[in-house]
Amino acid sequence: MAMSVVLTFAGSKPVVKLGRIAGQFGKPRSSPTETKNGVTLPSYRGDNINGMEFTPEARTPDPERLLKAYAQSASTLNLIRAFANGGYADLNNVHRWMLGFVEGSAQGKRYRELADRITESIAFMEACGITPESVPQMKQVDVYTSHEALLLGYEEALTRVDSTSGDFYDTSAHFIWIGDRTRQPDGAHVEFARGVKNPIGLKCGPSLDPEELLRLIDVLNPANEAGRLTLITRFGADKVEQGLPRLVRAVTREGRSVVWSCDPMHGNTFETTTGYKTRPFDRIMAEVAAFMDVLPAEGAYPGGVHVEMTGQQVTECLGGAAAVTEEDLSSRYHTHCDPRLNGAQAIDLAFLIAEHLRGTRVNAAQARAG
Ligand code: PEP
Repeated sequence: MAMSVVLTFAGSKPVVKLGRIAGQFGKPRSSPTETKNGVTLPSYRGDNINGMEFTPEARTPDPERLLKAYAQSASTLNLIRAFANGGYADLNNVHRWMLGFVEGSAQGKRYRELADRITESIAFMEACGITPESVPQMKQVDVYTSHEALLLGYEEALTRVDSTSGDFYDTSAHFIWIGDRTRQPDGAHVEFARGVKNPIGLKCGPSLDPEELLRLIDVLNPANEAGRLTLITRFGADKVEQGLPRLVRAVTREGRSVVWSCDPMHGNTFETTTGYKTRPFDRIMAEVAAFMDVLPAEGAYPGGVHVEMTGQQVTECLGGAAAVTEEDLSSRYHTHCDPRLNGAQAIDLAFLIAEHLRGTRVNAAQARAG
């Protein structure tokens, strides 16, 4: 809520809120096995399949896990719906969305100033007769769910035919995406996604060339329907300038309708000498900034951002205003999956994006004014 209000108010853009919320239950792995001290076991594939502990028992797939993950996802969704529609999302609560530990920080101060301006604007609007009662969007939000459609057995079991249209929908989430490791044009994941009507995403990493991307777009969005396909780019900060422009140029040249979104997380991951998987905040910011420069320069629009984050005060990504160092990582490294931005880093990122959006708007207004 805090990030989206920063983007909506400071960036003057409506925000679609889409989240993998309950956890990452299916993990794509680069290797099927893992070796430690001479012992080789199956890799951990996410809680939907097996356990993290490095024992033969934990690493043996257990189908009961699918039921548990489903139940956990359903109860998480229930809670989110209660928050989204039960009063918490009322814009009058804008000050309350800032989490305690961020409050004393520079980001907290910046957020409070923004929240003060919103409260002032609401008071003005209310004086004009525009209230949460007359405009329900002021007191509730739509929150959508999303995840990588990796475990096709799970996705297939949750796919239904809409009796009114005859179309197939994967009901495991509103929006599903195809990962960077499973986007082969003749592969099973592409075949599955092309058959469902959900809006879908496609991860685009450095090994994807423009011709292959156009082939994938033909398969996944043959009618060139707006909103059907989101391309989620994940290059790594140092590879964006080299890899992204040629993809955007090809897609724009061929008139393909897509949403461009930036995943600054998965191309910027490394393991420290002490064994922590982490991501430097500076590189995350740099990838988003490069993405927001490249898209308009190629005649396209930066339409989204895909981050891994938590509101908690974890120490999983390096840097940021609180300057998390390699030594700090161990103090609150809570993830079982991928390193996440903490609350302060996430708010910082939202302000950076808002500034870029504002800059683009000011430039466009100046250009219109001649
Ligand atoms: C992810 O988004 O969780 C992920 C694993 O991404 P990618 O397929 O881009 O590596």
